[in-house]
Amino acid sequence: MDKIIRGVHEFQDTVFGSHKQLFERLSEGQRPDALFITCSDSRIDPSLLTQTSPGEIFVLRNAGNIVPPYGASSGGEAAAVEYAVAALGVHDIIVCGHSQCGAVAGLLDPELVAGLPAVSSWLQHAATTKRIVDDNYAELSAAERMTAAIKENVLVQLDNLRTHPSVASRLSRGELNLHAWVYEFEHGTLFSYCPDERRFVQFGKESVESATAATGAAN
Ligand SMILES: [Zn+2]
Repeated sequence: MDKIIRGVHEFQDTVFGSHKQLFERLSEGQRPDALFITCSDSRIDPSLLTQTSPGEIFVLRNAGNIVPPYGASSGGEAAAVEYAVAALGVHDIIVCGHSQCGAVAGLLDPELVAGLPAVSSWLQHAATTKRIVDDNYAELSAAERMTAAIKENVLVQLDNLRTHPSVASRLSRGELNLHAWVYEFEHGTLFSYCPDERRFVQFGKESVESATAATGAAN
């Protein structure tokens, strides 16, 4: 805890001053560009990854970057999605999974989370991911299955997002784009789902335009 307290002091003593104008402007309201949904995993830092500042992305985090289908959970996910889309008017929603995700590992092997009833219950919202992996990737090695599950899971969450009325409405008007990303934090590499190629493609300097192609409006 000492490190965290020292960090707060450093923020107040040196960092805040250099961003004073930004925070003054943000006190008038927020207008983020995107809703960024990712895992609670401490190794993932959305603002570091996207090099965004306060006010630029609206972030929703939970174990496994899961978005329950509309009406399936009384958790805060639906409220965060609705607020970002209908109140803040974000134009993009990114669901970003990541390598070595403990939630996805627990999904594939329920024994790993057998002593964690709340986690086990939460992961039921990703049962579709497990079924897809069990039915289609049984022949893969454990590591390959994990990679496949992480990718399939973000695609399942895009499907779940489409069940939310605010999302469906904005999608139907072509005002919202959905993006599926997978971040390999140990390499600093990012993969984005390309609906035309029906596969994840690596983000590169030359492929930023194509890799950010919307998956929502076309589906
Ligand atoms: Zn995770």
